[in-house]
Amino acid sequence: MSQGLVTAAYIIAAVLFIFSLAGLSKQETAKHGNLFGITGMAIALLATIFNPDTSGVAWIIVAMVIGGAIGVRLALKVEMTEMPELVAVLHSFVGMAAVLVGFNSFIDLHPEQVSQVGVGAHMTGAMLNIHLVEVFLGIFIGAVTFTGSIVAFGKLRGLISSKPLMLPHRHKLNLIAVLVSLGLLVYFVQTGGTMPALLLMTLIAFAFGWHLVASIGGADMPVVVSMLNSYSGWAAAAAGFMLSNDLLIVTGALVGSSGAILSYIMCKAMNRSFISVIAGGFGTDGVASSSDQEMGEYRETNAEDVADMLKNATSVIITPGYGMAVAQAQYPVAEITQKLRDRGVKVRFGIHPVAGRLPGHMNVLLAEAKVPYDIVLEMDEINEDFSDTDVVLVIGANDTVNPAAMEDPGSPIAGMPVLEVWKAQNVIGFKRSMNTGYAGVQNPLFFKDNTQMLFGDAKASVEAILKAL
Ligand code: NDP
Repeated sequence: MSQGLVTAAYIIAAVLFIFSLAGLSKQETAKHGNLFGITGMAIALLATIFNPDTSGVAWIIVAMVIGGAIGVRLALKVEMTEMPELVAVLHSFVGMAAVLVGFNSFIDLHPEQVSQVGVGAHMTGAMLNIHLVEVFLGIFIGAVTFTGSIVAFGKLRGLISSKPLMLPHRHKLNLIAVLVSLGLLVYFVQTGGTMPALLLMTLIAFAFGWHLVASIGGADMPVVVSMLNSYSGWAAAAAGFMLSNDLLIVTGALVGSSGAILSYIMCKAMNRSFISVIAGGFGTDGVASSSDQEMGEYRETNAEDVADMLKNATSVIITPGYGMAVAQAQYPVAEITQKLRDRGVKVRFGIHPVAGRLPGHMNVLLAEAKVPYDIVLEMDEINEDFSDTDVVLVIGANDTVNPAAMEDPGSPIAGMPVLEVWKAQNVIGFKRSMNTGYAGVQNPLFFKDNTQMLFGDAKASVEAILKAL
């Protein structure tokens, strides 16, 4: 493959990646978006492997076969509810790759070896300085992404407590880590690159990434995942600079900026400050919350009564959450929706931006069960309508319908906009127990006078209602 052909292939791949992002922004076009992305990546891989500058193709193919086999196995095995964990682990790989590329690039360039090897041998003056900065920043961003993603994985998997780590002077510690790293960068460039400075910064960056994510509480994890997504993009872009690979720079920048936009959207949805997230740890200053306070009595109901209530309703809103995903209840939920619509009941869905465990989780499940898109509404589109609604079915949702977010300033989820379901005439809570949601806070909604609990696995409960209907 000639160099010109490689460049042309890279341009086509970059354009396909942009089409892919555009496609993924809407449910109707998401499949096409995925196809564009896959095609772009296949072209990019082929062009890189058959690039005239590439050597050791056999090794690359062996690595790809092993990596591909592990990837396919994992992708087939992973449950939809485990997706965020998988994404977090994948981000950690990107981070580690950037660290390794950085060290590789540096070793290639190390002053003691300048006369013997590599492109670095021809680098002097400004070019050398720029390259050293690339190496330093690439390793820094990669190392932060690596340990940050490992902690995020641990928290999402439940291996690490989802409670925020509250070290004394935690913000000062972060600031010191950044300032010392900056000092090391200056020293590193001035001395023309020294391994001890690079190693020391790497250790600091590992600790910084760990601390940054460890100090963020459970309910704020969606922002962390999208933020690490963005970091992994910048890490890839930095690797692109080090390797002088234009496509990697473009792709990294696309991932980095789209991750940053997603983080911003998530922050807005959760009413958090973007800067505080980037600085690590926020909204969790250990104020006593009402979680342990006495909530009063809750009332139980059964499937037949809920079916009667639905038959007599004129408008119903369903607010699904993580429990619907766990139970895989979306199919009977879609059937109930159809049945009620056939009877002339107005049925709509209210989707909270962080419901489930990944952005768009509920939308994906409902689309899978063929629920029409036009009755699936965002939180902002539906929040005003709850007061005119007869019945709200809260199917496996908890934090996203918790009134404490609005009423209790001491709650860990205080300030997060929620679906105001309690304004409806009747609320049915589908759960297996009175356990808390992901944020670990009790939900006063389930103790309100207009709420009744339907205990059991969400799928079994919805199927029982379907039968009674
Ligand atoms: P929550 O995680 O707050 O609550 C889910 C509820 O579902 C639980 O209370 C649980 O209660 C119930 N449940 C679990 N399994 C079943 C089942 N099989 N049948 C019936 N009920 C079940 O859900 P939400 O969707 O309301 O909120 C999402 C939370 O996750 C937020 O705190 C968000 O910040 C966080 N998060 C979101 C991410 C995202 O990108 N969307 C990523 C990471 C975290 P019980 O055990 O009693 O059945």
